[in-house]
Amino acid sequence: MKKITKIPLPFQIIIGLFIGVILGLYLGNNPAFANTYIKPFGIVFLNLIKLVIVPLVFSSLVVGVSELKDIKKLGKIGLKTFIFYMITTILAITISLIFANILKPGTGFNLPANLSEIKVNQAPKFIDTLLNIIPANPLKALVEGNMLQIIIFSLLLGSGLLSIKEKSKTVFAFFDGISNAMISITNAIMKLAPIGVIGLITPVVATNGPKVLLPLLKVILVVYFVCIVHALFTYSISIKVFTKMKVSSFFKKAFTPIFVAFTTSSSAGTLPVSIETVQTDMGVSKSIASFVLPLGATINMDGTAVYQGVCALFIAQVYGIDLNVYQQIIIVLTTTLASIGTAGVPGAGVIMLAMVLQSVGLPIEGIALVAGIDRIFDMIRTVVNVLGDITCSVVIAHSEKELDYTKH
Ligand code: ASP
Repeated sequence: MKKITKIPLPFQIIIGLFIGVILGLYLGNNPAFANTYIKPFGIVFLNLIKLVIVPLVFSSLVVGVSELKDIKKLGKIGLKTFIFYMITTILAITISLIFANILKPGTGFNLPANLSEIKVNQAPKFIDTLLNIIPANPLKALVEGNMLQIIIFSLLLGSGLLSIKEKSKTVFAFFDGISNAMISITNAIMKLAPIGVIGLITPVVATNGPKVLLPLLKVILVVYFVCIVHALFTYSISIKVFTKMKVSSFFKKAFTPIFVAFTTSSSAGTLPVSIETVQTDMGVSKSIASFVLPLGATINMDGTAVYQGVCALFIAQVYGIDLNVYQQIIIVLTTTLASIGTAGVPGAGVIMLAMVLQSVGLPIEGIALVAGIDRIFDMIRTVVNVLGDITCSVVIAHSEKELDYTKH
C-alpha cells in the first residue's frame, strides 16, 4: 500500500485510465455490468468534485475581487479575457473547417437507410442567455449552480467589500477561509482520482466498443486530430509569445486537469482541479484564476467549436451537400455563438450542433449519425475547452504581472 501512494498522482491516473480501457474492452459484451457495478465509483468521484464547485468559485472570486487594489482593473481583465476567448474560438473553428475540407471525414460513409428521427432539444436563445446573466435572486443562482449568475454576484459582492475597506475584514476572512478549505478538499478528493477514472472510463469503453466506433472512425480521428493540432498550435504559441513560461512545463503542469477533463467530460466539473492547478503549480494569482477559469468553463469552448465544425462538414459530406465559402463563414459565426451558449457539462455540445446545422440549412437528423457515440467526442473536446481556459488564465496573469514565476 505504501508503495502505491508513492507513485505520483498523474501516473496513478494514467494507470487508472489503462485499467478502465482494458476492463471496458473485456466487458464489451456485458456493458450492463459496467454500468451497474463500476459506473457508481465514477459517479461518486464526480459528485465529490462537483460539490466543491459553487463554494469554491463563489468564495475565491469574492476574495479575488476584494484583493484587487483598483476596481478598474477588473474591467481591463474582463475585456482582455473576453477578447482572448473569442479569438481562440474563432481560430479553433477555422482550423477545424480547413482540416475537414482537406480530410473529408464524410466521404465513403454511407447514409444508413434507417436513420432515426432525432428529437433535438431547443437550444437556448442567445439573447435569453444574455438577459439571464443578472441574478434577480442570488441565492437561487447559488442553489442552482448557475455559473454566469454566480460570477456576476461574486463580482458585485467583491466590489462592495472593496468599497467598504476596513469594515470588510471579517467577511473577507470568512470567504478566504472557505476558499482555502475548498482547495484543500479538492486536493483530498483528487487522491481518489485513479479509482474515479476507472469508474468513469470503463462504462464508456464497454458501451462504445470497436463495433460501434469503427464505422465512424474517420470522423472521430479527424476531431481528435484537429483538437490536438489546435491545442499544440494555438495554446503553445500563446504561452510562448505572451508569457515567459516554458511550453513543455505548461503542458506538464496541466496534466491533471487534462485527465480529469478527459474522463469527466465536464469543464465545470474540472473547475476545482484547474483552479487549484493554476494557482498552486503555475503561479496564477487567486483573483485571475477565480475569474478567468469559471468564466471560461461557461463561455469558452474551443474543443466544442472544433467538434461542431468538423461534424457540420461531416454531415454535409454524408448527405452530398456542398457548402460554399459564404456558408462556411456562417458556420464560423454560429459556432462561436453556440460554443458560448454551450454549458460545461457532458453532452451539451451536441445540442448546440443543431443550431449550427440549422444556420446553413443542413439536415438536423444528421446529428443521429454522431449522437450515439457523443461521449467519445465529448472527452477530447472537453480537454481542449479546459486547456483553453487554463492558457488564458496564464496569459492574463502574465500581462497583469500576477504570474508567480518562482513556482516554475
Ligand atoms: N462537455 C463539454 C464541456 O464540459 C461541453 C460539450 O458538450 O461540448 O466542456
